[in-house]
Order: sequence, then structure tokens, then C-alpha cells
Amino acid sequence: MQAPTWSAVAKILDGRALAAELRAELGARTSALAERNVRPRLVVALVGEDPSSLAYVRGLEKLGAQIGIAVEIDRLPAATSEAALRAALEGYGRDVTIHGVIVQQPLPLPLSMRRIADAVPPAKDVDCAHPLNQARLAFGSGSRFVPATPRAVMLLLERSEKWPLRGRNATVIGRSSVVGLPVGMLLLACDATITMTHSKTADLRAHAQRAEILVVAAGIPNLIDESYVRPGATVIDVGTTVIGGRLRGDVDFESASAVAGEITPVPGGVGPLTNVALMRNVVDAADSLSQFKEK
Ligand code: ADP
Repeated sequence: MQAPTWSAVAKILDGRALAAELRAELGARTSALAERNVRPRLVVALVGEDPSSLAYVRGLEKLGAQIGIAVEIDRLPAATSEAALRAALEGYGRDVTIHGVIVQQPLPLPLSMRRIADAVPPAKDVDCAHPLNQARLAFGSGSRFVPATPRAVMLLLERSEKWPLRGRNATVIGRSSVVGLPVGMLLLACDATITMTHSKTADLRAHAQRAEILVVAAGIPNLIDESYVRPGATVIDVGTTVIGGRLRGDVDFESASAVAGEITPVPGGVGPLTNVALMRNVVDAADSLSQFKEK
């Protein structure tokens, strides 16, 4: 637990502790799969040499090693054509020893995720990139593959005092296709009443002040202070901006935590849970694909 400041009343939603718990759970599940001779395997297609992508996928390799998931990075040259990338993805789809497939972003131009997403094998689409899986998410029909960051937000909310979310007022700040929008759909699927806000919203503060659950994913450090927070609200900060070598959230923690009932710190909130959420999808995929194979 992070030590609260003198003025804080909010309970800290501790992403690191929860991530440790979930890692242990996943380790137990991969051990059970190993008894059935299934070793969950994730392939990351990495096109080009983007240094932050490399650092990210190395982090996945390390986490995989801890919990019994084989993570393989398929490094493709920056000049890989769309046809060649499609062929690689189709190959992963046919390989029954592979359970999860992700395409690391950003892709070097002229490749684009929008054009390539439908080539990701849908049953192995652990980052929910394929349009079919995105549509399932939009239908609220319980797509198995919820993308990592939105899932991380929900994992924290499941442990919050506001759970279950039925009938709760939730405001989401930001409507990006990777965070805000899917978070909104997941909240709706949990029977919350949602308000989606974005850069053109008039009177953001008024919408935020109504929220029992406030999810902030705008990418603007310190956008939200106590004046936006309803007393007792649960505040989930998805923002991650590096300023002067330090990670900053979208929420002014000192100020907001004096009013909120619960709050996530940055770092140590949503971030530590995202890769664990992705790995959970890999284990789910290994579980269901291997059962399918056994039948
Ligand atoms: P992320 O990937 O973290 O969601 P993006 O940069 O893709 O970030 O999207 C940022 C989102 O935040 C956009 O939907 C944008 O409309 C929203 N946003 C940006 N500025 C504001 C603001 N001042 N108030 C509310 N929403 C904002």
C-alpha cells in the first residue's frame, strides 16, 4: 500500500498487489494445463525496430517466463509487405501449438493496423484487434478477448466498493478506440449508466461531478483535480505521460484523493495489470483451444 498523504481520505486501489495475486492465479492455471501437456504460447509479430516496442515485448517475455507462458517474438523486417504480414498471421492461425497472436503497434508505414486487423486469427486474438472481436465487445455479448487496458480497469472495479456496478453512474473521460470506448461498453455491459466525454465535451466538470465511478483516459496530466470528483467516488486513472522521466497520470492524485472514496495511483494502478490481463487472455485461449482439440 502506498502511504496516503495527510489530507487523503481515499482508499488506494493497489494495482501491483492485485497483479501479484493474478500472476499467482495464472501460474496455477498454467501448471494445470501443463498436466494436460498444454503449454500456452503467445506469438508477437514485431515489424521493424521501434525501441519502445522492443522494450514492451521484452517485458511480456519476462512476465511469460514467470507464469509459464512461452512468449515468442517474431521479428519481421521493417520493409515487410502487407501480403507477407498477412501470410505470417495466417501461419500462426494454422499452428495448433500457438494460442495467442498479437501484432505489436505502431506498425511502420505504409502498414496500418486498421488494414491488417482482420488477418489476426480470431480465436487467438488476445488483444481484441480483429473487427469480429471488436464487434462482440460492442454487442456486450461477452467476447472472451477484452483488450488489456480496458480489462485492467474492470479488474480494479471488480475489487472496488462500487461493485456490482448495476445502476451506478459512471463517467468516462476519453473515447479512444483502445481505452475510453471499450471501457464505456464494458461498464454498460455491467449495467452502469454511462456518460462518455471527450475533447469536445462542454462542461466536463459537471459530467465528472455526477460520477460514482470516474474513469480518466485522456492523456492529459493533471486534467482532473478535486473539483471534478464527487465525494466518495471511485477514480480510475488510465493516463500515462512521461514528464521529466516520471510517469504522470491524468488525475492530480494529491488533490483528488482528498475527496474520492477510492483511487488508483500512477504508477501502481492500472499499469501493472495490463500485461497480466493480456496473459490471462492467452491462458483462456490455450484452455479453450486445447479442449477443442481434445474433442
Ligand atoms: P488513450 O489511448 O490514452 O485513450 P488518445 O490520445 O488516443 O489516448 O485519446 C485521448 C482521448 O481523450 C480522446 O478521446 C479525446 O477526445 C479525449 N480528450 C482529450 N482532451 C480532453 C479533454 N480536455 N477533456 C475530455 N476529454 C479529452
